[in-house]
Amino acid sequence: MCYCKNCHTHRRDNEVYQRGSPAKDYVLPLGWARIPLRVADVPSKHHIAFHGTDSEYVKSILKYGLRKPGDKTPDGELIEERRGHFNDDMKPEGFDTKQIFLSPSIIYSGNRAYANIKEWYDKESGTKNKARVAFQAWIRPGSYDVNHHTISADYQIDKHIPNSELEWSTKDKSAIILYGLLIILE
Ligand SMILES: [Zn+2]
Repeated sequence: MCYCKNCHTHRRDNEVYQRGSPAKDYVLPLGWARIPLRVADVPSKHHIAFHGTDSEYVKSILKYGLRKPGDKTPDGELIEERRGHFNDDMKPEGFDTKQIFLSPSIIYSGNRAYANIKEWYDKESGTKNKARVAFQAWIRPGSYDVNHHTISADYQIDKHIPNSELEWSTKDKSAIILYGLLIILE
């Protein structure tokens, strides 16, 4: 599914829909392309959120889902806070880093602080490429907290969502069903 400007305009879709129960705004991931992931069941009451990440984590997330820092994968790999992000030694007072973080905004999730840029050289075309990745997920209503964003930005990051509601977090990985891998080329 391509959400680039051309395709989106051509489909005459809205930018915002409502999903889940109680209903929440779902802002389309405009500019991105979505590769669908296979899921057992499509939940009817879940909300939609995004999780930007580094491309090097995609394989592990596809295999084991999103996990919170402190957890171990079945392979024995310890999940840690990402370098440069809040951790036990550096965080605002009371902030719990041992959670899975998502956002209802792809603009916030897709920020380079989360979805950092992957650069590679394509031999065939002789071009240098840059891309970012994020996951699209369903998340169970009532399973997550809603908080203010945690990057340095004093402007409204997403015109459809207040800054105070940009960061969703949960300790319950079973509340999250990943259903799309999003990619955007720079
Ligand atoms: Zn397109």
